[in-house]
Amino acid sequence: MANQTSYGNVKHVVYISTDISDLCNHCNYNIGSDGYRGFQNSINHYINDHGYQLLHVGSETGTDSNGNPFNSTVAVVGK
Ligand SMILES: [Zn+2]
Repeated sequence: MANQTSYGNVKHVVYISTDISDLCNHCNYNIGSDGYRGFQNSINHYINDHGYQLLHVGSETGTDSNGNPFNSTVAVVGK
């Protein structure tokens, strides 16, 4: 049961996206600053360094400043 995600016990969630660049909620690690590689490293960082679980992975469609649609990949981690 230890590896099973239990949403009821999640008290803190973090939203990660290929479209955002931010600092980790807990340290000065750069989140999402290097495209897809940064995205996966960011998820691994939260999981391995801060004990988070991956709750959700999906895609989003947004609009850039020129009105052109773009897709981004998002992940939500929590603990
Ligand atoms: Zn961190």
